[in-house]
Amino acid sequence: MSVTVTAPAKVNLGLSVGPLRPDGYHEIATVFHALSLHDTITVDHASEPSVTMDMRVLGVVPQDADNIALSAVNALAVRTGHQPHASVHIVKRIPVAAGLAGGSADAAGVLVACNELWQTGLPLAELADIAAGLGSDVAFALQGGTMVGTGRGERLAPVLAAPSAPLHWVIAASGAGLSTPAVYRALDEMRDETGQHVEEPAVSMELMLALRAGDVRQIAAALTNDLQPAALRLRPALARTLQAGLDAGAVGAIVSGSGPSCAFLAADAEHSVDLAVELSSAGVCDTVLRATGPAHGVQVQSVQSL
Ligand code: ATP
Repeated sequence: MSVTVTAPAKVNLGLSVGPLRPDGYHEIATVFHALSLHDTITVDHASEPSVTMDMRVLGVVPQDADNIALSAVNALAVRTGHQPHASVHIVKRIPVAAGLAGGSADAAGVLVACNELWQTGLPLAELADIAAGLGSDVAFALQGGTMVGTGRGERLAPVLAAPSAPLHWVIAASGAGLSTPAVYRALDEMRDETGQHVEEPAVSMELMLALRAGDVRQIAAALTNDLQPAALRLRPALARTLQAGLDAGAVGAIVSGSGPSCAFLAADAEHSVDLAVELSSAGVCDTVLRATGPAHGVQVQSVQSL
């Protein structure tokens, strides 16, 4: 038997980062938003776990035990008592180390696909519990939509009355990724330098009201990301990318998560095509992608008995 699923990328519409905790982590309050941009993951029975990648984007992903997809195979095996008998094949369309949570998407996809392959029948809540142990964005990738994430991002609650009309995004991605821990370290350094008192993280009321109203321009005006100044410090050229998107008519522009991808909100589908063309010719990034949101979480595409 072989099982194929899709798993979405995300942008953070709002990302508030609390103070550095003694255990080295930060509490966050974020609004996750799943994109139609996705990886496709196929799992097959195999005598031992393995992963292969079909890279449709620039970037390097380990094809050994460091691949988070294999961590997911093993985590599900441990929880269910099943042998980790699965080979994983990933068609990688989500740029790597890009702030779009591509690795998390793959892990979430593997949990759903192996649960189906092995007929282990865990409910979504239990998969979400395993997901939380794999990474802070994995539980969201399972569920998709637009959700508030707290804790390290793994405690999820739906955003009420999210817009029914899709949002149209243009993503400017870079072939050279940014390390998420390095961006958090840069944020801590910047906060130390200014001696700024750091509040507990909170989702902005302005953003929640904008999402409730479903108004693109209001949402664009309410996009926030505490990690953006830190990503800009590590990659100053991103300022030019953000400006190029705004000059090309984007209604909103933000660094996605820990970057370096920049996410631009377009007024509608037609506008997103124009925006993508202009950004491509501006020479400020390696790849330009279009996507809509909110998208579904992990979806089973096919189950084939061989
Ligand atoms: P996040 O925002 O969740 O921190 P990201 O989107 O910035 O993540 P990823 O694409 O998830 O970044 O990659 C982060 C790191 O994880 C990369 O250095 C990559 O080599 C490694 N990695 C391991 N497995 C995978 C995978 N299946 N897909 C992508 N990256 C992976």
